[in-house]
Amino acid sequence: MTQPSDSLETPAAYPQLLRELRETAVLGAAAAALAWDQETMMPPAGAGLRADQLALLAGIAHERRTAERVGNLIAACEADPALRDDPAATANLREIRRDYDRATRLPTALVRELAQTRSLALEAWKDAREASEFERFAPWLERILDLSRSVASCYSAGTGADAYDALLNEYEPGMRATELERIFAAVRQGLAPLVAEIAARNRHPDDAAARVALPIPTQIAFNQAVAARIGFDFSAGRIDTSTHPFCEGLGPGDTRLTTRFRETGFPEALSSTMHEAGHGLYEQGLRKAERFGQPLGEAVSLGIHESQSRLWENMVGRSQPFWQWALPEARRAFGSAVERFTPTDLYRTVNRVMPGLIRVESDEATYNLHVMLRFDLERALLAGDLAVADLPAAWNERMFADLGLEVPDARNGALQDIHWSMGMIGYFPTYTLGNLYAAQFWAAARRELPALDAQIAAGEVGPLLGWLRENLHRHGRRYSAAALCERVTGEALGPEPLRA
Ligand code: ZN
Repeated sequence: MTQPSDSLETPAAYPQLLRELRETAVLGAAAAALAWDQETMMPPAGAGLRADQLALLAGIAHERRTAERVGNLIAACEADPALRDDPAATANLREIRRDYDRATRLPTALVRELAQTRSLALEAWKDAREASEFERFAPWLERILDLSRSVASCYSAGTGADAYDALLNEYEPGMRATELERIFAAVRQGLAPLVAEIAARNRHPDDAAARVALPIPTQIAFNQAVAARIGFDFSAGRIDTSTHPFCEGLGPGDTRLTTRFRETGFPEALSSTMHEAGHGLYEQGLRKAERFGQPLGEAVSLGIHESQSRLWENMVGRSQPFWQWALPEARRAFGSAVERFTPTDLYRTVNRVMPGLIRVESDEATYNLHVMLRFDLERALLAGDLAVADLPAAWNERMFADLGLEVPDARNGALQDIHWSMGMIGYFPTYTLGNLYAAQFWAAARRELPALDAQIAAGEVGPLLGWLRENLHRHGRRYSAAALCERVTGEALGPEPLRA
């Protein structure tokens, strides 16, 4: 195996590279813990220090990620014929090379400035949303857009890539805005008449279950019990509360989820928990114990990540069999307050179609219209075709055109989402991709697990989780999102399963 052309470090280059990547991932996990804390625990006056901490860590991590020694190690591994015969190492190296080439395009100063601005903009967004005053957030959004344009031009320099595509690729590698336009148009074509037809029928299922007042501590206990039942490992994770529910996989053995609760609306809180637990199950199913910091231990893309949350939230959590199991559990937790409901009542309640102003509370029929609105507006903002000052008006106009709703204030309009404050331009489309992947994976799971409904009705979701672990989770980034979809479902991603 040893050839004269091999450098001295070649035999050890691969393990050495993996050690480097693991240490950088440990540093990233420290930043993720601080970001989690900012969302859940940090007092508002701690914002300045937190921004400094995150900027410093982002800078150090970026320097490690782009260090010359890392580049040399990658090159040594690529030249090692023994590694070329190892499919896992080959896949790992392909993705490590991609990450390295992307990262080295960004100057450390820009990475630090972006991390600092994100952390401060997040606090500004919270204030602006609270007060429902878009003007308070506008200068921060301008700053975020400027920095995003700089990032995009670093990524696309010399490649001719579109600025939006360059940012989108951070979240959904290999996807392009023009491809999204095509897929979204097909989804919209199916959805618009459906939403209109439902509105025309003017039938309103009884939603009394969504209006029962239940004590929040009891709801928290119930949600935790359901999350544990679907397989979320609490010895390696937590659920806390935050304004904007999220999942943060810190690293091996530590996955953090958050949910939000209201006294009335236990089915909605449960949906949110199922969603985040779906993300959490994916994080816990990645092989981080052995592969932390390596592409093979990481999520494929945010679209695939979102497919896991939407599958548990919608395909499982809004199904009749699920409520056959979950309602008796809810009765045990909440007692007489939910005694009078049947599984069918809950099934109808959670499947109501009611155009609303808030994306995260919207039903399956209208959800993707919310995403398309954001996709179009953020592309226009990035390109400079829409001025930040005109965003609320453009938002409200589109909301009326698509869903027939008047937006009363910015809190329920352009200020509702956290993403732009966190510098995430190009992230929203992954939500609709997640819905499309989820529907397609679900159809495949149903074909391969004929007893699935009966199992869910009995609260036995082990076979489904096992199927997801086997077919999706354990691979990490071994296959691209498109290749994974074909491998698992036999077909390229399409709008049909979601429409069905
Ligand atoms: Zn999600």
